[in-house]
Amino acid sequence: MTGRPLIYFEILSKHFRSLGADVRLGARLLLRRWRQLDRAKRSRIELGAVFSLLPLSAALAAIAAAPAALDLDDIQSRPIVEVVSTPRLDDQLAPALVRGESFVREARVQRGELFGALLVRLGIDDEEAARFLRTDPAARPLLRSAPGRFVQASIGADGRLEWLRAYRDGDDSAAGATSTVLTVARDTSAPAGFRVAESDFMLERRTELRSGEIKTSLFAAADEAEVPDSIAQQMVDALENEVDFHRSLREGDRFRVIYEALYAGGEYLRPGRLLAVEFVNDGRSLEAYWFDDGSKHGGFYAPGGRSMKRAFLRSPLEYTRVSSGFSNSRTHPLFGYDAAHRGIDYSAPMGSKVRTIAGGVVEFAGWQSGYGNVVEIRHDSKHSTLYAHLQKFGPGVVKGARISQGDLVGYVGMTGWATGPHLHFEVKIAGRHVNPLTAQFPGAEPLAEAQREALAAVAAPLREQLALLERIRVAANAR
Ligand SMILES: [Zn+2]
Repeated sequence: MTGRPLIYFEILSKHFRSLGADVRLGARLLLRRWRQLDRAKRSRIELGAVFSLLPLSAALAAIAAAPAALDLDDIQSRPIVEVVSTPRLDDQLAPALVRGESFVREARVQRGELFGALLVRLGIDDEEAARFLRTDPAARPLLRSAPGRFVQASIGADGRLEWLRAYRDGDDSAAGATSTVLTVARDTSAPAGFRVAESDFMLERRTELRSGEIKTSLFAAADEAEVPDSIAQQMVDALENEVDFHRSLREGDRFRVIYEALYAGGEYLRPGRLLAVEFVNDGRSLEAYWFDDGSKHGGFYAPGGRSMKRAFLRSPLEYTRVSSGFSNSRTHPLFGYDAAHRGIDYSAPMGSKVRTIAGGVVEFAGWQSGYGNVVEIRHDSKHSTLYAHLQKFGPGVVKGARISQGDLVGYVGMTGWATGPHLHFEVKIAGRHVNPLTAQFPGAEPLAEAQREALAAVAAPLREQLALLERIRVAANAR
């Protein structure tokens, strides 16, 4: 415990080496001041300092502003005994998430999702609330929630809705922008039992750093590191073409992330965008930085400007919380590629989502004996893919429909000649079947020269922070 300030200080002073003697002197004085504080105050300030690790000046200000006290040199005599934790999200979430017998659940409206399905997904089992939401004119905008909209609901232990909020901001909303939130709250004094209100809120962005190590699955590791689900999912989205999360995760793989946390009115609202990720997979280190490349949602790039995106995804099955890690074999291919069999089979739970690995046009969606419900998609003049044994098709997946990369094709089933639920997946290049696991697909365009410089400027401070996290980890392990 008492060793921690020294690590901070070491790290801080490394930063200051580049800043000149005045600052170094100031930092040394601050350290002396720090040592003079009593322990309780120190740990309180430590917490504040960790929270503010990014704006270093704020961390220093916190130390400087603390009143001097006694307790001198016991710091140096003790070894470093504890991992320095990055800010703990649950410290921030706890007050918001646990209120007596109720809990708060969060979700994003999915494309094509019916409102009833959203309520089920949120864990709301409340016919009265469902009826109100369907029929009240003021609540109706909720029903038309756009895909991606963030929804929060407070639900009693019995599944009764206490309140539901739909935020109108997108991930791209600027900090300081004013946006609106629609709230439906249970109110026994209201005639219909609920009241609806729309209010403004101001969005504020803060930055969080986390690091974790994989023991079973990425999502389990993210939980342990207190990385929110949506950030873990963005990690997967950023890296899934470099790392086959279904097949190549290893125990001991590590990650570090920097992401935004959004606040409204000083209260933690939700995670925002993943800004940087470093992932060490089986000894190979990958870095990706979010960059506003002018596309709709920006993209992730390696420091040199190589895009993490590909025209073709590596897997037709999303890697999600329910995907297994490497400890058992669900969602792994049942067999390797077999030329006679023309594709590979992914074992996956019934109903798992199947997505198209690239944009294109639906060439066939229907029944074929053997294949059962099957979808074939033509991506360009050379490439096509096929998804078979589906339980049912995704919305709008009909012959001739245009479809974008990652869109839902259908759900894993066992139609046709299948003995258990699995996805049969084929890739054809120039009319010939190829092994989907090793197929060579066209790469993505790298950034233009001017954009590469802009990316470097965005990535540099983030890289430095990732390196800082790594030094903390190494220092903690070296004791
Ligand atoms: Zn098969």
